[in-house]
This record gives sequence, structure tokens and C-alpha cells, in this order.
Amino acid sequence: MSFEQFSFDRRIAAAIKTVGYTTPTPIQQQAIPPVLAGHDVLGLAQTGTGKTAAFLLPILQRLTKGPLHRVRALIIAPTRELAEQIHQMSADLGQNVRVRGVTVYGGVSKARQVAALRRGAEIVVACPGRLLDLLGDGAIDLSHVEVLVLDEADRMCDMGFLPDIRRILRVLPPRRQTLFFAATMPRDIRRLADQILNDPVTVQIGVMAPVETVSHALYPIPHRLKKQLLLATLQQTATGRVLIFTRTKYRARNLARDLTKRGYRASALQGNMSQNQRERAIRGFRDGRYDVLVATDIASRGIDVTAITHVINFDVPDTVDAYIHRIGRTGRAHQTGVAYTFATEENESMVHEIEQVLGARIERRRLPGFNYGDFVPEKQFQSTREQARQRPPLRPAAPRSRRSSGRKRYGHTPARKAA
Ligand code: AMP
Repeated sequence: MSFEQFSFDRRIAAAIKTVGYTTPTPIQQQAIPPVLAGHDVLGLAQTGTGKTAAFLLPILQRLTKGPLHRVRALIIAPTRELAEQIHQMSADLGQNVRVRGVTVYGGVSKARQVAALRRGAEIVVACPGRLLDLLGDGAIDLSHVEVLVLDEADRMCDMGFLPDIRRILRVLPPRRQTLFFAATMPRDIRRLADQILNDPVTVQIGVMAPVETVSHALYPIPHRLKKQLLLATLQQTATGRVLIFTRTKYRARNLARDLTKRGYRASALQGNMSQNQRERAIRGFRDGRYDVLVATDIASRGIDVTAITHVINFDVPDTVDAYIHRIGRTGRAHQTGVAYTFATEENESMVHEIEQVLGARIERRRLPGFNYGDFVPEKQFQSTREQARQRPPLRPAAPRSRRSSGRKRYGHTPARKAA
């Protein structure tokens, strides 16, 4: 299967070649035809599946015809990093067509964004807060929007953006195409999708489970030994780019500092850093100036670095969704990746929940040669192990809707409509 089947404008087809895509990913195969045909689409797909190009390519195709100098496509994303990533991809894929994009997000000069809008743009990639700000100032006209994309809608909801999104929706033309992407569908997101999508085609990829090319391992460890375990792991493992997650900004900063002191080329990526510092960290990681990035969940959104070989959960995340998002950072675009999780006794119930959603038990490991002192890793999570024994044997990851996950958040039945 190739991109030719979509009959994109030859300038867009040429750009696809230039960026090096040869085969459409599954979400692209499923989503591009209905988006090109003008349907609303509900895309259940996480980062790493190729979903950005799945909506950008048909949007660019649409914009090759019709008026210029007015905002015709609005893409809303939860973080500036993700907005920048989408914008960059739209510039890459739209390099041969006369379409201009502008990013709109907080933490940077408003005047520049306003000036760029004044010069005329057809695609706006925005975070909700600054977009509302510009709407309030009368600096942006959304009355000509033909396509609205809500990307990572579940994450926007987690971050409290739902009221902002509803306010933005009120100023958009009711007759438009709406594309709605989320990795998970908690109840309020399902309700929003139901309200704003008109007879949507549902495409479901990676079926709301982790990317299958990622292998998972769990390292039981007490708090006091976590840092030593990390250092020993980094020393023993042939890693490429390593993304480490901590629970707090403070822990990310300190851990990155400790690693740097020990000679690792490491940087933190956390919310207390300025936009410039964050961009520098991501760029450094992408360019190979850093081998290790220590991030918090929110700051890591939008990292588009394909060659991450290892994700290490230095701290277990608070939710299963966060786990899935984190490990979606490795194993991207058909590469293989490894996700290590350092788990303490207190994490037992979250580990159990993660395993329920994965539909499999995560392998417990002991790091060979590591001095655990009087701690016996094999003794931790024994009750989880008992529960795992009582579950059916391992099976391939299946859609959550088919699993008997006890979590209420996933108690809905996702719409299943063939694309
Ligand atoms: P996304 O899920 O949109 O964040 O994309 C994940 C990564 O896959 C990005 O680095 C894209 O550049 C890359 N990608 C998207 N589509 C393709 C494709 N058809 N072939 C190879 N890589 C792709």
C-alpha cells in the first residue's frame, strides 16, 4: 500500500517523498479517505501512530483550493510542544504549497503571533488559553474555519481545558468538518465527541493499548535504592536515547542534575523551565547533544523524537493513561523500544491496574549484580502475582472495550464503525 492511492496533489505527494514516508501507517490508511471525503472523524489513536499526518495531509489537500489569507483550518492541541510539532509537520508536508501556518500559545510574545496572523494564515495550531486571549482581543477571525481538529482531546480534558474548548467551539461556524483525536475516551470526552461530531467515522488504531513494539519490564525496588538502580541500569544497558519520567518537576530537575554530575549527557524537561529552555532540551535530545532526558508527564507531551530506545519510569505514573502515553514515546513508527518501571511497594495497586489494561502481567526483573541489600525484589507484589495467576493466560493486547477492566473510566462501549 502506498500514498499514491489517495491521489494527493502532486506537490503534496512530492513533500511526502521528501520527508521520507513510503507507506501509510494504519491510522493513515483508515483516516485519510474519510477525511478527504469531508466526513467527521473520531480517531482513537495515541502519539506515535502517525495520526498527525493522517489529519494534516487531507487538510493540506483541501487548502490547495479555495481562498487564501483566512484561517480555514484550526488545530487545537494541549501543549505548546505538541502545537510546535504539528506546526513543523504541517510546514514539512506543505513545503510545496502556498499555505501558511501560525502557532498560537502562551508563554511567548503575543505581538509576534498577532503580526503573523495579520500577514495571513490558513492553518492555525493553537493551545486553548492563548487562542481565547486572542479571540478576546479581536486579533483572530475564526468565522471561516472549515476544519477543526482537536488533538489529544483526552489530555486537554485532563489539563482542565474543557471549558475553554467549549468557549472556542461557540465562535466557530457550525457547518464545518471536525476531526477528534484521543488515546483514551473517559466519559466527559465521550460526551464532548458525541456533541460536536456529526455522524463521524470512527477509526481505532493501536486500540487504546500501548504500542506493540514496546517490551515492558518491572523492577521492584525500595525508594532508597531507586537512584542507585537507575545508575546501574544505565551502566549495564546498551541504551540509545533514554527518556526518564519522574513524578514531580523538582525530582526531574534534581535527577537530571545528578546524572549530569556523573558524566551523563542529560537534561531535565519540566514545567518550571521557560519555553526556550524546554525547546533547547528537546532539540538537544533530538540532535544527540543529550542522551538522557528526565521529564515530567505534562512537559513530555509533544516530544517528537523517533529514536528513543528506552523509557524508564523512575516513578510509577498516577494513572494508566499516563503510563500508556509515556511508553508511547518509545517504539514509535515501527521501531522497537523498552519500557522499564521502577516500582515500590506503594505502587502495587497502580501496577495491578496497568496490567489489567495491558491484558498481561509485566515481567518482574532483578538487575543482575545490583546490591539490593536486605531487600528481596521477588517478594514484592506477591499479591499482584497471585491476582495475575488467577487471570486467564497471556493474550495479545485487545481493545479495552473487550477487556473486563474494572476501571469505571473505560466502562463505555466505543463506537465501532468501519472506515
Ligand atoms: P505522530 O503519531 O503523528 O506523532 O507520528 C509519529 C512519528 O511517525 C513522527 O515522527 C512522524 O514523522 C512519523 N510518521 C508519520 N507517518 C509516517 C509514515 N507513513 N511513515 C513513517 N513515519 C511516519
